[in-house]
Amino acid sequence: MKTAIATVSIAGDLSEKLAAIAAAGFDGVEIFENDFLAYDGSPRDVGQMVRDFGLEISLFQPFRDFEGMPEPQRSKAFDRAERKFDLMGELGADLVLVCSNVSPVSLGGIDRAAQDFRELGERAARHGIRVGYEALAWGRHVNDHRDAWEIVRRADHPNVGLIVDSFHTLARKIDPDTIRSIPGDKIFFVQLADAPKIDMDLLYWSRHFRNMPGEGDLDVYGFMRAVAATGYNGTLSLEIFNDQFRGGSPKFISVDGHRSLVYLMDRVRRSEPDIRIECPEMPDRIAVNGVEFVEFAADEEEARELGRLLSTLGFTRALRHVSKDVELWRQGNINIVINTERDGFAYASHVVHGMNVCDIGLKVEDAAATVERARALNAEPFEQPVGPGELKIPAIRSLGGGLIHFIDEHSDLARVWDIEFRPVSDQQAANGVGLTRIDHVAQTMNYEEMLTSLLFYTSIFQTSKTPMVDVVDPAGLVRSQAIENEAGTLRITLNGAENRRTLAGHFIAERFGSAVQHLAFATDDIFATAAALVGNGFEPLAISANYYDDLAARFDLEQDFVDRLQASHILYDRDEQGEYFQLYSPGFGEGFFFEIVERRGGYGGYGAPNAQFRIAAQKRRMRPKGMPRS
Ligand code: MG
Ligand code: MG
Repeated sequence: MKTAIATVSIAGDLSEKLAAIAAAGFDGVEIFENDFLAYDGSPRDVGQMVRDFGLEISLFQPFRDFEGMPEPQRSKAFDRAERKFDLMGELGADLVLVCSNVSPVSLGGIDRAAQDFRELGERAARHGIRVGYEALAWGRHVNDHRDAWEIVRRADHPNVGLIVDSFHTLARKIDPDTIRSIPGDKIFFVQLADAPKIDMDLLYWSRHFRNMPGEGDLDVYGFMRAVAATGYNGTLSLEIFNDQFRGGSPKFISVDGHRSLVYLMDRVRRSEPDIRIECPEMPDRIAVNGVEFVEFAADEEEARELGRLLSTLGFTRALRHVSKDVELWRQGNINIVINTERDGFAYASHVVHGMNVCDIGLKVEDAAATVERARALNAEPFEQPVGPGELKIPAIRSLGGGLIHFIDEHSDLARVWDIEFRPVSDQQAANGVGLTRIDHVAQTMNYEEMLTSLLFYTSIFQTSKTPMVDVVDPAGLVRSQAIENEAGTLRITLNGAENRRTLAGHFIAERFGSAVQHLAFATDDIFATAAALVGNGFEPLAISANYYDDLAARFDLEQDFVDRLQASHILYDRDEQGEYFQLYSPGFGEGFFFEIVERRGGYGGYGAPNAQFRIAAQKRRMRPKGMPRS
């Protein structure tokens, strides 16, 4: 299937838009009439420019308020149509979208509308143009694709067909399976958009909050399965009105859009094996079995500071790279790599961002297949020259400028620590504190980047998203959402900051971009861990006494239990399934920190209700260093 996107979906002038759309891999564009108004050139020039970018004009739109008009509006509507057909001829477009009439003077009546479309089809045919009819969710008489189809059916003209748009169908809660009874060859075009579930006026919702398939809450997948069942094999086009996207980077929004369509086609192809769907072949979504390592880029001084903190957290400096200034710190199944090389990717990352998590290693079934899928979904593979004896580990660039490496069990990759590393000569076993594995990796980003991250992770890996929650920072709101797999072996939390006075926003501003802001380690016994930490000289983030007074009341807890929590600065949360315990390190660098968690029962969250208390405690500590008072 061909892919297209409406130029209105992204920011920029027309040539910037087309460059971004072509680079992302789309086959075509929907041209809006408004694209001419701002552009200094004739329709002929615009058509040529589109083709020069290697794109086709998949659709011209919109043609409004056409069907069911009384005279004299009816004749005028046909005159307008003739002018559009001429313009389309110059442009080189052969399909026009007519959206259902919203005019208060329009008369309604299925047969009247069908008659109008038959006549329009005749006129269009003379220009070599096809007409597609779309039911707007807020159309005056026609607001349901089933009625639009009945009009097209009765118009009975080869140049008149139906256009379906997932937003208009799903926003009105019309069962998308009703599309299955429409002949595929009478569907001339398919537009796709998702949206977050918000209860608001349909028109306003549609014009401002649409997003890419998979980014919102609508069943675009079910819609697309129904479309595929009809035998439709034409273009899939994104028509996304979103204020944030129109203010964002045309390049990144285009990539997100293309990724969303390819992912959707891949999903539908897998669920409908009897239907032929032309789309790029790729391995299925990748199961992740855990985080194999997290790598920090640092200079010597930062590495010493990080090492000291890891020591008090019970990590042992275990291995050293055979030829590079790279060390491995280990506890349980947690591998922390500290890279102080003056060359290569980590160094480049350090120059730009200062100390930061520059690389994450994920355990997967098949590392090469993972890169293959990621590449099919617009991710960028990463390679750098490897030294003698080093393994070539498959990797991609993640968002925010870091890397993700993939380790599997079927090759030497699983033995990377034995092959590339040697035990350090002066190893001193630390006093472990019972940390077993990485529970979650928390990434902080600008709010605008959250949808991009969400689509990136859910399209490549077998993961799903949790509902978004708001975290209150005294200086503003931080949105939080998690990507996780069913087994809980991959948990990534995304925190979107709306302004830089929040702790999260401050972190992004200081390190010039989104990044991992905290790592959470799991323990099976948080009280034992807390006691062992004290023995190591670890100083936890101090939580206010008021928090514990409130906690006792909120959950109706025994005072003894609350006293134990308070003594160790442990935060507590509970859901229907189980309990959650959290403990934080003080921050270091530009606001990075570690967290230790214990999940009891099937607790599924991340302690969101506690985040505001943690943030307040961190800000209390940071203020003397110039953190703005909020
Ligand atoms: Mg539409
Ligand atoms: Mg956390």
